[in-house]
Parts: sequence; C-alpha cells; structure tokens
Amino acid sequence: MVDVAIIGGGFAGLSAARRISRLDQTARVAVLEAGIVGEGPAGANSGFIIDLPHEVSSDDFSGESEARFRQSVLIQRSAIALASEMATENGWGKEVFDPCGRYSVAISAEGDKHLDDYAQQLTNMGEDHRLLSAGEIEAVTGSPVYTSGLFMPGTIIVQPAAYIRGVADCLKEPVTLYERTPALSFERSGAGWLVKTPQGSLRAPKIIMANNGHVESFGFFPGRLLHVFTYASLTAAFDPSLLGGERKWAATPALPMGTTVRRISTGAGDRILVRSRYSYNPSIAVSDAAIQRAGRLHDGKFSKRFPTLNGVGMQYRWAGAMALTRNHVPAFGEIERGVFAACGCNGLGASNSTASGIAAAELALGHGSELGRLYARLAAPAALPPQPFTTIGAKIHLAYREWSAGCE
Ligand SMILES: Cc1cc2nc3c(=O)[nH]c(=O)nc-3n(C[C@H](O)[C@H](O)[C@H](O)COP(=O)(O)OP(=O)(O)OC[C@H]3O[C@@H](n4cnc5c(N)ncnc54)[C@H](O)[C@@H]3O)c2cc1C
Repeated sequence: MVDVAIIGGGFAGLSAARRISRLDQTARVAVLEAGIVGEGPAGANSGFIIDLPHEVSSDDFSGESEARFRQSVLIQRSAIALASEMATENGWGKEVFDPCGRYSVAISAEGDKHLDDYAQQLTNMGEDHRLLSAGEIEAVTGSPVYTSGLFMPGTIIVQPAAYIRGVADCLKEPVTLYERTPALSFERSGAGWLVKTPQGSLRAPKIIMANNGHVESFGFFPGRLLHVFTYASLTAAFDPSLLGGERKWAATPALPMGTTVRRISTGAGDRILVRSRYSYNPSIAVSDAAIQRAGRLHDGKFSKRFPTLNGVGMQYRWAGAMALTRNHVPAFGEIERGVFAACGCNGLGASNSTASGIAAAELALGHGSELGRLYARLAAPAALPPQPFTTIGAKIHLAYREWSAGCE
C-alpha cells in the first residue's frame, strides 16, 4: 500500500515523485518503470531542457500569441527550476547539467529570416538573446555552412541518461523506484486502486499516469495521441584538432523540423550528435531499417556541416517515441477519480513533461500554484480524424514540414 503510484519513470514520472516528496515528506510513493531508468526516451534524447517556445508566431505577436509565449515560458522555466534545484543540491558537474544556453542555427535565407523574426519577438518579450553572423557562428561550431545563429542563454544542456538517473537517485524513502516493473492494468479496489504488475499488485488511492503515449493502452485518450518517433546518430570520438570552433556547444535548427546538432567533449575525444527526421508510428515501435534510413540522412547532414570530419563515422544510432496532440496541449488532468495524467509530451518533453509531472503531483496532493492554475486552464487534447485519415494526414504533414525545413 502506498499513497501514490506513479506509472512511468521518465521526465514526467520522476519529476512528479520529486515534487510529491517536496510537498509531503511522509507520502509513500511507488514509481513503476517498465524498463530501466535512462534507457527510454528520457535518457536517450538530445539533452536540451529548453526555456523558450520553439515556434515563431506568424502574426504581429500581440495579444493571444504573447499570452501563449508567456504560458510556455512559465511551463518550461518551472521545469528548469526543479532541475536546477536538484543539480545544486547534488553538486552535478557541467558534464551532467550545464546551464550554458543554446544556439539556434540557420543554413538558408529562410532560416536567417526566421531567426531575425524570432530575435525581434524575444526583444519584444524582454528575453535575453544575441544574433550571430555567419563568421561568429562558425567560430562557435567550426562549421562553414551556417549562415547565422541566435544565442539564447536560458537552456540547460544535460547528459540525458546521467541526468535522468540522477533524478531517480535523488528519490529517498518513502519514495521507491521499481525498475523492470511494468504496470499491466489497474482496477478499483475499495476507495482506491489496485495496480497489477508481473511481480505482484500494489494498492494506492491515487495513481499518476506518466507513461506518455503508452497511457493509451490503459484506455485513456483514445484517438487523441499521435505517436511520433525521432532519430539520432552519434559519431565515434574524434581528435578535437580536426574541427575548429568551441569544444562544447548545442544547436537547434532555425526551422522547427530541421536538424539538431551538438558537440560533446570528453576526455577520450569529441563527438557530434545529429538528431533529425520524424516518423508517425501508431504501433509505438520502429524497425531497425527505419533507424538505418534515418541514419543515412544523418550522414548526409553531418558531412555537409563538418567537411573536415570526413572519415569520422557514426558509432551509435537510435530512435525514441514521443506523443503529440493535435492542439499541442498535454494529456493532463484528473482523468478518473484518483487517476491523474501527465502525458503527451509534445516534443519538448524534457521541459514539458517535467512541468506536467510537477503539476500532476500538485493536483494529486491538492496543492495550489501558478503552474497548476495554468494547467487547469488548458484545453483537452483534440480528437484526431478516424483512421486511415489520421495516418495519411500525419504522414503527409510530417513529410511536408520536413520538406519545408529544407537543408536546415
Ligand atoms: C532522439 C530524441 C531526441 C530528443 N531530444 C529532446 C531534447 O533535446 N529536448 C527535449 O525536450 N525533448 C527531446 N526529445 C523528446 C523527449 O525525450 C520526450 O519528449 C520525453 O522523454 C518525454 O518524457 P516523458 O516522461 O513524458 O516520457 P518518456 O520519457 O517516454 O517516459 C515514459 C516512461 O514510461 C515507461 N512506461 C511505459 N509504459 C509503462 C507501464 N505500463 N508501466 C511502467 N512504465 C511504463 C517507459 O518505459 C518510459 O520510461 C527527444 C526525443 C528523442 C527520441
């Protein structure tokens, strides 16, 4: 018997557990994780905990879009506050948690315009930033192809597997993490719930569903979640003298569906991470062939950006699942009496899912906050069209947006 059972040990689930332990040190919490913490998407991403929304609004950035911007910043900075608190408490070094900011980089005239427009909006919002010329961004990245850059200081760059393991390691009695313990189902039992796992059952009056797209397999949010994968490749370690610029930097693309690139510096040499490509996979699984196909795309993006690294190959390739909603809102709230959802990461899951986890914990414990009031105002995820229209629509939409991102 515990007070709260949390299903899922990613950003949302572990952040919910952390928030509960801060609100009530006596609350008994069980976090059930189907796999091993750090081996799922929360540990295998590009490591950007981003503080500002990605998208540039198409209007004059007044009224509604300004409110959306502020809302997004509140969500993302709440996540960063929780993460920073743990980093300080545990003395995490910069190799795990680095508040170094991020660059957004352009590779075309359209990308340049996008960065200029976004910089203008950041000025209007009073957000710190710096535009960089082609030469200045080359001095950072060592790449001759970028045509401009925009630096935003508020993003945290993490080593994702070390970060999420660190969050798990912060949890202390009476919070317990059970790995390799998938929740199979749950049913009403008296005033609470009985959660079944292969190892046994657990009683809890409250459950927080923090298993992202897999929440659907429990019958929640049917026809409302889009299961999208994204893909990454990481080079073998190379001699740092082969690439100019700084030894450590992280860059997202000017256009949202473009290519994220990071340079990671280790004692054994440097590595480049390339993340690009999205695919719609309603079965929440991808094939090795899909990973290899995305890998060939990564190879092309890598060789174009880093001609001096010709001959450096990719050592690792992988893919991971995300759950998006049509109207970009999380699958959040009390979805049955005593059952709370913190799912539907909508891509920026490092910050969005962390914040959803915090808000779900506060809702479950009846704790009021500005973040909680914001989540209470969010719309429910919109229904997707019936199949096969969702599949056809999602594939066309992703293909069109990737095409629009061009070389970015
Ligand atoms: C290659 C790649 C790069 C990315 N880069 C970034 C980035 O730089 N910044 C960013 O913000 N986002 C990034 N993302 C997205 C981000 O990783 C996800 O949005 C994020 O992991 C979502 O967090 P979550 O806690 O909601 O879900 P997850 O991280 O998916 O965690 C859910 C957990 O639930 C567990 N689970 C599922 N079913 C059950 C069950 N029945 N019982 C128990 N446990 C269960 C899973 O094993 C999993 O560990 C990236 C994703 C990928 C794949």
